Amino acid sequence: MKIIYLASGNAHKLHELQTALDSAGLSVQVLGPDKIGGMPEVEETGSTFEANALLKAYALRKLGPANAYFLADDSGIEIDALDGQPGVISARYAGEPCDDEKNNDKVIKEMLTVPDNQRSCRFRCVLALVGEGVEETFAGVCEGTLLREGRGDGGFGYDPLFLPNESESTFAEISPDEKAKISHRARALTKLLNWLT
Ligand code: IMP
Repeated sequence: MKIIYLASGNAHKLHELQTALDSAGLSVQVLGPDKIGGMPEVEETGSTFEANALLKAYALRKLGPANAYFLADDSGIEIDALDGQPGVISARYAGEPCDDEKNNDKVIKEMLTVPDNQRSCRFRCVLALVGEGVEETFAGVCEGTLLREGRGDGGFGYDPLFLPNESESTFAEISPDEKAKISHRARALTKLLNWLT
């Protein structure tokens, strides 16, 4: 059985990936970084999601067995009127320590004078898979519009401000199941599963 070490200590993400692999009929076991000494500190210095996801995947690979796969992700929101910002610095857009509310306030302010028809944006997620002879990235995108103020209490990050093209509700208003059908992360994961299959 192949093992994938996931560069995340988040039990929910581990479970989500294991379930997706099982459902696709793939004989792969997902393990967390704790099984090989813990996720090393990685400075996300890349200028693209691909570069940062690969940095994290390779950092983890240094600790694990040669015949395993190592998977990492990087994600964020790109706002066209801000030339693609916050992009790779989405998590720390308003500075550190990372604060979702401050990030959203900053984006709301910067977008104040941008007209309704120029508020296009997208969430992007890139998964990087590395292993012996393997270096693959899988990108998933969800297109939408950046609202002038937040709506909804669910989700995290920029969810309350993001109205996906597929829905009348923001990512913070829809259920996790609905989000999982159209999200950037789900789309990247589908590509990974296709590749593994
Ligand atoms: P990462 O942990 O480096 O991938 O940073 C992801 C950051 O992008 C998060 O902290 C959020 O600010 C933003 N982000 C990524 N995906 C989502 C999402 O699905 N909803 C809301 N914000 C997201």
